[in-house]
Amino acid sequence: MPKLTTEQKRRLRAAEQVQALKLDALLITSLTNVRYMTGFTGSSANVLLYRNGRAVLFTDPRYTVQSKQQVDCKIRIAKGPLTAAIAQEAARTRLGRIGFEPENINLARYEGFTKALPARAKLTAAPEGLIGKLRMVKDAGEIAEIRKAVDLNSRALEKALRRLKTGITESELAAEIDYQSRKLGASGPAFDTIVAAGKRAALPHARPGKTKIGPGMLLIDMGAFSNGYASDMTRMVHIGAAGAKYRKAYTAVLEAQLAAIAAVKPGATADAIDSAARRTLKKFGLDREFIHSTGHGLGLEIHEPPRLGRTDQTPLETGMAITIEPGVYLEGWGGIRIEDTVLVTKTGCEILTPTPKDLVETAE
Ligand code: ZN
Ligand code: ZN
Repeated sequence: MPKLTTEQKRRLRAAEQVQALKLDALLITSLTNVRYMTGFTGSSANVLLYRNGRAVLFTDPRYTVQSKQQVDCKIRIAKGPLTAAIAQEAARTRLGRIGFEPENINLARYEGFTKALPARAKLTAAPEGLIGKLRMVKDAGEIAEIRKAVDLNSRALEKALRRLKTGITESELAAEIDYQSRKLGASGPAFDTIVAAGKRAALPHARPGKTKIGPGMLLIDMGAFSNGYASDMTRMVHIGAAGAKYRKAYTAVLEAQLAAIAAVKPGATADAIDSAARRTLKKFGLDREFIHSTGHGLGLEIHEPPRLGRTDQTPLETGMAITIEPGVYLEGWGGIRIEDTVLVTKTGCEILTPTPKDLVETAE
């Protein structure tokens, strides 16, 4: 028997879910899930996955050549709307119950399908995040890509920081980071690069602007997409000597981050990792200033399940790639966050991010 491709294996695993849900097929509309199931990276495609693991990719004529190069399942090039081509296929194969991804379809598209499908076919919502859950545990190839994305991200930061000097703006440093990242082979940033100077570091998702980087704290949160996979890292730099308040807060966040990392192992639940970070910050009287969750999965998307927050009880498994990123934010003063990407291993976890986490002070 010929060896199955990575995508064929994934389709068979997803097909088990299709069977368990008593569906005849699953309509995959998320482009990320389409990529995961078929390898197709174009901007317009849907997949119909049958309960036996057979799949059909629907795309438009712009992708005739690309789809043939990337995809090892059946391809249908739709001359008109994809919806019509999918409805035709559903009629041809006499589909009854067709599951859809409720989080990845809008009302107009849903109604379009309902109209186009033959009478015997019935659309039914699959559980939210069905394929997303399958994507949580990464295979060896995916782990290799995440490692590359993480290394690239750290090298880009190192290069960009050589250009850091008092007086340049947040936007200029963010542009330098993106430029270095692209030069090192990233296809683009995994999210809008965050560079927040001084008091603006109190905004966890600050947009870089015209604020000049001056003496004081600087928060940099950056990620790169490499071969489809994301990386994510936050580091702090202090321009000039740091004061006692900064030192104390930095120590608290770093201890919280290390405590959360120490808690990562197969079987530990996502919320337990979050509590480990919160408990440590509480010792420093800073738990109320921690206003987001401790981390998130990442892979083909920058934010994937599990969510390392108070309410997600997903048990961690070997092969999950997650971020650990506690932070504290004080309005009018600033904020501190330290973030690594880590890989859950059999015995605990491996910190993938190579950038050191010691408190950094640069010359003014
Ligand atoms: Zn993150
Ligand atoms: Zn981040």
